[in-house]
Amino acid sequence: MRLSHHYVIPHIATGDMLRAAVKARTPLGREAHAYMDAGELIPDEIVLAMVGERLDQDDIRTRGFVLDGFPRTVAQAQGLDELLKPSELDLAINIDVPTEVVLRRIASRRVCVDCGTIYSTEQRPAVDWICDLCGGEVVQREDDTEEAIRRRLVLYESETAPLIDWYKGSGKLVEIQGVGSPDAVFDQMVLEIDSRRQAGGFGPPMGVEEGGA
Ligand code: AMP
Repeated sequence: MRLSHHYVIPHIATGDMLRAAVKARTPLGREAHAYMDAGELIPDEIVLAMVGERLDQDDIRTRGFVLDGFPRTVAQAQGLDELLKPSELDLAINIDVPTEVVLRRIASRRVCVDCGTIYSTEQRPAVDWICDLCGGEVVQREDDTEEAIRRRLVLYESETAPLIDWYKGSGKLVEIQGVGSPDAVFDQMVLEIDSRRQAGGFGPPMGVEEGGA
């Protein structure tokens, strides 16, 4: 989210899109709900169709995009390559965080149901779990149960971690240590992106995939 504000480009977060569909009770939302609550991945073809529709919109063509939480499988990465042709992704960012830190962060995570801003039990909104930015209610995510978190971590290892080698192979991977403060992690990402941009590694418009353990 911060990257898209910094570079003023659209933020495409598949988790946020799916949660919005669940909330609006669309056919996609009704299908996705049970998968999400159980910590399962939504089938690749459903996610690819959703992302493909978003990538077709005009703002993406003129400004580029930051993908967040997508791709999560090698099949999704292959599907993304097809969707982007003849353009290409500029880079993929892996934010590396040890499992015990991930677990601690998820346990304390709270999110705004309206705009998705993330808080924690340590960094609360100023007033009674009301979002500082939009006034929405700030809650624990429905899928942040112990069982669903455990399942998500198993799927991360088997389905998502192989993407590290996939993007390393294409020379697009940037690895960031994600254990510092949010500001320190963000500054590292901007440094890496800007150095690659200045070296002429980006085609217009800019496209970045951001993800982490
Ligand atoms: P997130 O907000 O990124 O943690 O995603 C929340 C949930 O949405 C995940 O646990 C999955 O059930 C589903 N989801 C989000 N992105 C994807 C994706 N790229 N592929 C499959 N399922 C996804």
